[in-house]
Amino acid sequence: MTSENSKTSAVAAGTGPTSAGHMFSLIRSRPGWTRQQLLAATGVSRTTLFERLDQLFKAGLVYEAGTTSSEGGRPAQLLRFDDRDRVLLIFDLGHVHGRIAVADLSGNTLRMVSLRFDISNPPSRLLPRLLDQGDALLAADPSAHLVGVGMGIPAPVDSETGQMSECTTMPGWQDYGLKERIQQRWGVPVLLENDARAFSLGEAAATGEAGILLGVKYSSGIGAGVVVGGEVIGGANGAAGDIGHIRLTDDGPPCTCGRRGCLAAWASGRAIVEQLRGHGMHDLEDVVQRAREGDPVVVGALRKGARRLGRVLASMVAIVNPETLVLGGSLGRLDVVAAEIERQVRGDTVERAMLKLRVVPARIGDEGGTVGLSRKLVRNVYSATAIDTLLADSAKTEPADATEATEDSVPVSQPSRAPRKSTRRR
Ligand SMILES: [Zn+2]
Repeated sequence: MTSENSKTSAVAAGTGPTSAGHMFSLIRSRPGWTRQQLLAATGVSRTTLFERLDQLFKAGLVYEAGTTSSEGGRPAQLLRFDDRDRVLLIFDLGHVHGRIAVADLSGNTLRMVSLRFDISNPPSRLLPRLLDQGDALLAADPSAHLVGVGMGIPAPVDSETGQMSECTTMPGWQDYGLKERIQQRWGVPVLLENDARAFSLGEAAATGEAGILLGVKYSSGIGAGVVVGGEVIGGANGAAGDIGHIRLTDDGPPCTCGRRGCLAAWASGRAIVEQLRGHGMHDLEDVVQRAREGDPVVVGALRKGARRLGRVLASMVAIVNPETLVLGGSLGRLDVVAAEIERQVRGDTVERAMLKLRVVPARIGDEGGTVGLSRKLVRNVYSATAIDTLLADSAKTEPADATEATEDSVPVSQPSRAPRKSTRRR
């Protein structure tokens, strides 16, 4: 045993590389650890190890999942990250429709509902409806254990703070306290992220791409995301990828932002529906349908829009030199649009920026946003720092002697899963 002051470290839950949070990260990194293996891997004293594990058991974060096969000695208990029945609630919201899903911790959709709405509606009208739908989905499995809520929105948002920037797509939402309201509803960690960035992250995560990926969500609006080494770039204040309001021309069609000639004013799905209204188009679904049927007027309008978007993407390709350009959204996934975008990008960019470039349609269909939000949410909720903070907070509300663990008091049976605080839906 070392000379560590075990009492102090127990009360403080530990910080640094031997904290309970770091031990948890280690346990989560592979399925099954014996206490002996953890001792060897971390170099901490037995007392410290047992204190840390005790905290993790009490918080419902790890459990004993059977024993090792005996190698001569006594079989040892295997410790595992407790992801049993843990679920996420994910809202992937676009301009006019969205997808609400209950997902497992890998981002796989367990249950989902699609719904139509107009995101420019006042939040006081729209948000309660969305959250009620989320509640209904959760209610379908009372044994599920909610650990976090993620929401992708078609607006610039700082995912670190949840602060939205002023934007015309979601008027009135900026100071509505969206993140706090969701937190109040379920009492679990909440992640807000831009929808196009979430989509890009999901595409990178689902395909295991470790390089540079540029993702574009092209539907009613236009947004992009740059993923580098598994992390999506959010920017200094959450506006990274907000390419819809890059001005292409000094004049041109008026934009919702009050200026003229923005990419969105020329080429967004919303703009194309407007351009084709005289041709009998009422919404983006009409446009997609007629494009698939080969309507030459619709295809012509889409090609024009795709060329404008392709020109902007060529600049992005020159800046970040991606391996993959993924085209998503209801327009981005149309063959005719994807082909035109690729042609424009390749025509406008220098050869050396495209030596490895692949232009591909979204590979996981509509699930990109859900997967991306899930990945980022799980990383936030279960980071070593988040776990240390969670344990320190729960230690504050417990009587002092509850944190005093000794080797004798190490739980030998399945830990109760009840003490996990306030993660049940209310
Ligand atoms: Zn604009």
